Amino acid sequence: MILRFLITLLFCFSITFAKDVQLTLASKNIANAQTVLLSLKASNIKKPKLTLMGERKMNLNFEVNPFKVDEYYALVPISYYAQLKQHQIIISYLQENKKYFKSVKFNVKEGNYKSETIQVAQSKVKPNNKNKQRTKKEYKEAMDIYKRYTPKQYWNSDFVYPMTSKITSAFGTKRVYNNLLKSYHSGTDFKAPTGTKIHAVNAGVVRLASDRYYAGNSVILDHGKGVYTCYFHLSKIKVKVGQQVKKNELLGLSGATGRVTGPHLHFSARVHGVQVDPMQLLEILNQLNKSNKKEGTL
Ligand SMILES: [Zn+2]
Repeated sequence: MILRFLITLLFCFSITFAKDVQLTLASKNIANAQTVLLSLKASNIKKPKLTLMGERKMNLNFEVNPFKVDEYYALVPISYYAQLKQHQIIISYLQENKKYFKSVKFNVKEGNYKSETIQVAQSKVKPNNKNKQRTKKEYKEAMDIYKRYTPKQYWNSDFVYPMTSKITSAFGTKRVYNNLLKSYHSGTDFKAPTGTKIHAVNAGVVRLASDRYYAGNSVILDHGKGVYTCYFHLSKIKVKVGQQVKKNELLGLSGATGRVTGPHLHFSARVHGVQVDPMQLLEILNQLNKSNKKEGTL
């Protein structure tokens, strides 16, 4: 009896959601600062879009998945500071000139992020007025880049790591600088003695290649579709702004420029302007050309 009831429920659920349109959520539970991957399989729909509801409302178009037939995808970045609760995404599309709306819910849970205290040169914690102006300008310049949406998808194969070495500091660690400045670690640190070769995680266009106050010598790559990766504290930059790079191409040499305690690579990523866990991002980007997990199908 219970089983029959469950089967009926499942049947109803699939009528509501299926009708030639299959939506897949990579995971129903996500940590703050991770990216949600949504896949939409349908052959006869137009203009699939979504809205992330809540305090940081975000409107996105679904993208055509070039690795699969009749499939679209969307990358929904969740802020580090997102509320830890159930969130909702409203999906819409046109089918035979009728507009359909569907709702998906998922939970944002607190990431398993650690906490650490760091001692660095006082001048880098509390910059003087001149440096304050500089950091303000550099922040705006970077944000203007991250917010720019490039329609072309430059990558056509799996993402790789920028280097193969030990991770010395994970993304998301809550940081206290000289007991003064509180923030979180905005990237993943790789062990890298000065002069180690740093490579592009995938194809893209160089949007920034310059020395910055906090990040030191920096390279920002635009992979298209709102996806950016960043490589900081380099001793040498080997690329120029506007240059198109291939996967694994040399971007520069690691170093200890900017606000650092020693040489390493700080690798970070942005999706639609939002800072996200770069390692989780690479993981879900590499799911685009793999078969969907069954348990996540709605
Ligand atoms: Zn770092």
